[in-house]
Amino acid sequence: MAKILIVEDNALNIKLFCDLLAAHGHQPEAVTDSRNALEKARSFEPDLVITDIQLPHVSGLDLIRLIRKDKKLARVPIMAVTAYSARGDEERIRGAGAQAYVSKPISVVRFAQTVDELLESGEQADPTGEDQAEWANEGAEGPSLGEPGGEES
Ligand code: MN
Repeated sequence: MAKILIVEDNALNIKLFCDLLAAHGHQPEAVTDSRNALEKARSFEPDLVITDIQLPHVSGLDLIRLIRKDKKLARVPIMAVTAYSARGDEERIRGAGAQAYVSKPISVVRFAQTVDELLESGEQADPTGEDQAEWANEGAEGPSLGEPGGEES
């Protein structure tokens, strides 16, 4: 189960995304007003953010940039969902800091696959996760292995 924040101004899409994510065992939380999205993300601490791009007030691109600049949220995977995919959109969205991009109307299969992939990548990037333990073990096999730990204070 993962906590997933959805930022979307369309009620039907919110319902669709929430139902889909809940059916996959996740805990979705929706924000309709993007002006509240950053604050909500800080308190909800999601494992993944799914954001619409066409949003009133704060656009999805601006929200992605704000999340990437936020110390607490900088590493959270972001999936963008957009109705209009003009030339260069994907580059702009990835350039802002989103890892994935799904166009509307969404394919249910592709949506679920992308969510799974991003959650897996988020686990790997987790500094408290297994990757760091492996990295630390590699360090222990280095030249200092077996030396007395006298330098530790
Ligand atoms: Mn929208």
